[in-house]
Amino acid sequence: MTGPALTPAPSSGTGASPALRLTDVTLQLGSGEQRVTALDQVTLTVSPGEFLAVTGPSGSGKSSLLAVAGGLQTPTQGTVHVAGADLSGLSERRRTAHRRRHIGYVFQHANLLASLTALEQLLLPAHLSGRLSAAARSRATELLEAVGMTHRADRRPDQLSGGERQRVGLARALVMAPEVLLVDEPTSALDRARARDVVNLLAEQTRARTTATVMVTHDTEILDAADRVLSLRDGRLT
Ligand code: ADP
Ligand code: MG
Repeated sequence: MTGPALTPAPSSGTGASPALRLTDVTLQLGSGEQRVTALDQVTLTVSPGEFLAVTGPSGSGKSSLLAVAGGLQTPTQGTVHVAGADLSGLSERRRTAHRRRHIGYVFQHANLLASLTALEQLLLPAHLSGRLSAAARSRATELLEAVGMTHRADRRPDQLSGGERQRVGLARALVMAPEVLLVDEPTSALDRARARDVVNLLAEQTRARTTATVMVTHDTEILDAADRVLSLRDGRLT
């Protein structure tokens, strides 16, 4: 087991290179008559420590934007840089490793593993990167507390509500202190008070760990927590 694995990357201060950069990204999905332009020439830069919110109606391309930024989907055109690397220049294996190391992803529907307890979900990322240290364990415990889930630490996903799963998914993404954090509709299953807690936690973690955070949402009540708000319409960013 290697040393303290959860030390955040050194802050690069102002004028730093962006943690995330999309250049002229177009994404087309489906084929033939069903072909849809989900993203249309999107250019976007997010700096370390910046909390960006992207709003837009259903079908405007919000989840597609995160999928491309997170290396889960390869754009039809354009480039994506994450933490200094051009994702399209990496082999599949190196892209997966780069993603695990630098990107935290919060899926709208949590995507938890059915067989693991809430606490185990948080230990898994460290385990997968071979960095399951005592520090990783205490960070997992801390984050479970931060999302108000300590009392559910031993429950599996089928024993949790949708909102509880969403909060575990958020804690899991934060546990490795990623340089880039991508968050899809984090408040869709939460009541107002929980939504506020979650978005405050996102803002606080973004600053404390100089993460570049992109949150996509159609919840306009939480936008005040962001440093910058952009909007998506038919795959175009404005
Ligand atoms: P949002 O997250 O804002 O609701 P999405 O990024 O999920 O939007 O979708 C953007 C557009 O791409 C929509 O028109 C949607 O119907 C379409 N789309 C999403 N996934 C696919 C797919 N696998 N095949 C074809 N079209 C898709
Ligand atoms: Mg979506």
